[in-house]
Amino acid sequence: MSYAQKVIEDLKQRYAHETVFLQAVQEVLSTLQPALDKDAKYEKNKILERIVEPERIISFRVEWVDDKGEIQINRGYRVQYNSAIGPYKGGLRFHPSVNLGVLKFLGFEQIFKNSLTGLAIGGAKGGSDFDPKGKSENEVMRFCQAFMTELYRHIGATIDVPAGDIGVGGREVGYMYGMYKRLTKSYEGVLTGKNLLFGGSLARTEATGYGAVYFAQNMLEDRGETLEGKKCAVSGAGNVATYCCEKLYHVGATPVTVSDSRGMIHDDKGINVEVLKQVKEVERASLTRYAELVPGATYTPVSAYPQGRNAVWSVPCFAAFPCATQNELNLADAETLLKNGCKCVSEGANMPSTLDATNAFLKAGVAYGPAKAANAGGVATSQLEMQQNAGMQSWTFETVDGKLKDIMGNIFRNASETAKEFGQPGNLVLGANIAGFRKVADAMIAQGVL
Ligand code: GLU
Repeated sequence: MSYAQKVIEDLKQRYAHETVFLQAVQEVLSTLQPALDKDAKYEKNKILERIVEPERIISFRVEWVDDKGEIQINRGYRVQYNSAIGPYKGGLRFHPSVNLGVLKFLGFEQIFKNSLTGLAIGGAKGGSDFDPKGKSENEVMRFCQAFMTELYRHIGATIDVPAGDIGVGGREVGYMYGMYKRLTKSYEGVLTGKNLLFGGSLARTEATGYGAVYFAQNMLEDRGETLEGKKCAVSGAGNVATYCCEKLYHVGATPVTVSDSRGMIHDDKGINVEVLKQVKEVERASLTRYAELVPGATYTPVSAYPQGRNAVWSVPCFAAFPCATQNELNLADAETLLKNGCKCVSEGANMPSTLDATNAFLKAGVAYGPAKAANAGGVATSQLEMQQNAGMQSWTFETVDGKLKDIMGNIFRNASETAKEFGQPGNLVLGANIAGFRKVADAMIAQGVL
């Protein structure tokens, strides 16, 4: 049994119930063996056994009072996974599905993603099983404040810098920032994704979605192709999906779908980004509202999706941008996309494709940008926000967007060259994993056994 396989088997015993975490570990470790074979130092230093264990897990109770005066209890977490190359960095997710296994999967992915950006940021993730859906503005504020009354002890501008993820946007970051400042008396860049009025960066809101499109452009350019004039399927309707759609128009492509947890919109004329922003960012409503506002669009509820499938992926497209959540695209979906002529997949969400869907894309040889490369633009721009905060500056939109574009190009070239180095040209899963891994592993070895 290979070294990587031995570590995977051991983890399966120890963390049998953390299924998405095991999936993420398997996805990364199963591609690292060529790098482990090439240099014995990784096994000798037990790097895999060390890198799969978080440096620290903080788990706490969050109590708050709802609008009816009833006491509510949620669970809060921060997984400080790896600080070999920089302060812990990664988002906070507020969603009822959040548990330690989900945050370990996200934190583990974040280590390699952050390393790939080429910037000095370690990996972390946190969040709560709090469900912001249906909560009043005051309830959201009280929850964010209660969450921060514990988290503030563990974070800091050079220690750990959280940001947003599913369920955490500018509003939540603002409430948490306010509470941090109140508790510590310190006005520092401790969170990213902040409002422009108190240290936020221009282009941070757009960065993950824009970055996924820049990454697709890089992959396609390398193959002599372009997105111009092409139909694209996008899933999700949050921040990543919205700005992915916006950027697709900028490059002459047409996004024809978006989706939320209740259903999907399909419109061959193209998604109306202004209406989408109005519905999701202002009204915080479901996509049924979008269908009311845009008469030509068709709405399909999740209950009408084909069994075990995501209907977004049955819409014929040249490129697919999964921007919703983990495991939203399975093998049957991948086969449908390929059958319909899809030539490019660029992942805006974290681990949206199941392992067998990923393998189907690789086998078909289409341009496939795995999440930790294709969606790294968000966290990369967070690090640009940290740079601006540290230097007490604010850069123009063009400056930040230009840096983002360069970073996405560098990630593509790094992953692509690493794949070639190991004799698997075009396999950006292997290329991204090995490139991200080597930097962190080498830093861990240089810093000794801690
Ligand atoms: N949650 C985002 C991610 O998955 C952004 C993290 C950040 O900006 O720190 O990368």
